[in-house]
Amino acid sequence: MVPHEMRVIKSSEADTEEWDCPSCGRRLLLRWPPRFSRIVLHPGDERALHVGGRRAAPVDMLTEPEKAWLSEHGIAWE
Ligand SMILES: [Zn+2]
Repeated sequence: MVPHEMRVIKSSEADTEEWDCPSCGRRLLLRWPPRFSRIVLHPGDERALHVGGRRAAPVDMLTEPEKAWLSEHGIAWE
């Protein structure tokens, strides 16, 4: 199965981003550390693997627990 690549379509606050999947329409709100949260606005295709595309801060800056958290919540990182 080809992973869906999500992209940031809006960042309304410094630590909050709205993500969109162009393939299936999945949309969610992510809030970054130190106050992680995730709100699914539209589930899209929940069977698909979703990977994170570009974002403002490099993925390298995420700690392993943060990456694990994202993975558990529907966004896998390389
Ligand atoms: Zn998708």
